[in-house]
Amino acid sequence: MQELALWQPELDLYLREMLRLEGRSMFGAGMQCNCGRIFANNELNCQHHCCDCLTPELLCEDCMNDRHAYTPFHRLEVWNGHFFEQQSLEDTGLVLELGSHTKEKLCVMSELAPLETLTVIHTNGIHKITVRYCACNLAVHCRKQLLRAQLWPATVTNPQTAVTFDCLEQFQMLNLMTKTSGTEFYETLECLTDNTGMRVPPVSFLKS
Ligand SMILES: [Zn+2]
Ligand SMILES: [Zn+2]
Ligand SMILES: [Zn+2]
Repeated sequence: MQELALWQPELDLYLREMLRLEGRSMFGAGMQCNCGRIFANNELNCQHHCCDCLTPELLCEDCMNDRHAYTPFHRLEVWNGHFFEQQSLEDTGLVLELGSHTKEKLCVMSELAPLETLTVIHTNGIHKITVRYCACNLAVHCRKQLLRAQLWPATVTNPQTAVTFDCLEQFQMLNLMTKTSGTEFYETLECLTDNTGMRVPPVSFLKS
C-alpha cells in the first residue's frame, strides 16, 4: 500500500513516458540514421521503428534489415508524417537465409533459389516472412531446413506455414499450467497480431 502511495504522484510522469513512445521522441526530421543518412523534413515512410528492440531509435530500411537478419519476427512501424503505421520486416525486404547459410555467407546458388513467403506463428503474433531455401550441394529437404532454423513446418508437403519452437514451448507451458486450449492460444496470437482482426495473415491448417 505504501508503494502505491509513493507511485500515485508519479502517475503523470508514467503516462507522459508511455505517450512519448507513440511518437518519434527525439528522433525527428534532421536526425541521422546509423548509416549516416540524414532524414529530410519532407521525407515520409523512411523512418522505421522496431516495437520489439529495446531502443526508441529510428532507422532507414537497410539498417533495419541489417539489425534483424536473425530476428525476423520483430514488429516494425513506419512514420507516415502523422503517426506510426504497422509494418513488417517482409515489407522492408528482409530475407531469412535457410540451410547452413547466413546473410554474410549466402548460398552459392542463391540467384537460382526462389524467394518464398512463409507464414510463421510466433509468441508475439503471426508473421509473413520471406525465406530463401538453400539450393546448392549442401541442400537438404525444405522441411529439414525449416526444422534446423527452429521452425516447425505445419504440413509435410510444400510447407507454407511454420510455428517457432519458442511458440510451441510457450503453448505447452500455458496448457500445462493454466489449461489454455489450442484455440484460445491461437486467438490470443491473432489479437496480438492485429486487435482489429483486419490484417491477420490466414493460416489454413487451423482454420480452413
Ligand atoms: Zn540507415
Ligand atoms: Zn527489433
Ligand atoms: Zn546452399
